[in-house]
Amino acid sequence: MSTSPPRPRPFGPPIVIAHRGASGYLPEHTLVAKAYAHALGTDYLEQDVVLTRDDVPVVFHDLVLDEVTDVAERYAARRRDDGHWYVIDFDYAELATLAVRERIELPGGTAAYPGRFPERLPLRIQTLAEELALVRGLNHATGRRTGVYTEVKSPAFHRRAGKDPSVIVLATLAAFGYRERGDACYLQCFDAAELARIRFELGSALKLVQLVGENDWRESDTDYDDLRTPAGLARVAAYADGIGPWIPQIVRWPRPGAAPEFTTLVADAHAAGLAVHPYTFRLDQLPEHAPDATAVQRALFETADVDGLFSDFCDATLAFLGRR
Ligand code: CA
Repeated sequence: MSTSPPRPRPFGPPIVIAHRGASGYLPEHTLVAKAYAHALGTDYLEQDVVLTRDDVPVVFHDLVLDEVTDVAERYAARRRDDGHWYVIDFDYAELATLAVRERIELPGGTAAYPGRFPERLPLRIQTLAEELALVRGLNHATGRRTGVYTEVKSPAFHRRAGKDPSVIVLATLAAFGYRERGDACYLQCFDAAELARIRFELGSALKLVQLVGENDWRESDTDYDDLRTPAGLARVAAYADGIGPWIPQIVRWPRPGAAPEFTTLVADAHAAGLAVHPYTFRLDQLPEHAPDATAVQRALFETADVDGLFSDFCDATLAFLGRR
């Protein structure tokens, strides 16, 4: 755990975001993974949201079902010509019959994280409303105020199919009381134009977080190189409250045994008034050449001074912060 003296923080104490739930221990985005993360004491539970054919917002990371469900066995004929089964091609009633399991790598089918949950159980894909009900119920029963950290996935992809996920996600969040800036809710998106639309056109008062990728990932039309400059961050601050960069945009270990090298991104974001919540800390997949998990969390929280962390192992991040 940290031994440095606390320093003044512009955004309050750092928050721990359970990335897809307690996904280091249970299959990502299942209700059991969310309940376990809640029990471990995380501050926020993450929801990635995509739409079904019948416009139901479901909690699922990928646009395709291939890597975490049994869709290939259950609906062989529904594969597109590109070899994938898309969430958006199925009604929710169909998706609810699929079994969710730990992520595999395709082709081949080997476990993406071999140390993680190996069992096959009747876990299923839940709707965003079901997950928000789980959080509300657990908060009621435990007296905690665990928040939600919801991502609108690939709005441009959805729009090409005639769908508007942001409107549906905002309405679902509002139905569970998440409307104002002070509510225990962040809304995140990679698409800068969409996040600005959520603020200005759709009028959301929620805390918004601009996710930051690399241009060659083709996550959206957003120019992340430009967005990471001080001028770009100033533009982000006009509509968002924070940024979510990936860890190597903050710190890298150039080779084994080398000292970490830091960018100015966190300081630049703070200067623009933006909180910084990087992704993703994984005990079983550290950044390249990082010596150990403690060094990674120390670099992020103590040297770079981030304001939160997406973690597959929220208990390990809480422990580092002295909260477990
Ligand atoms: Ca996400």
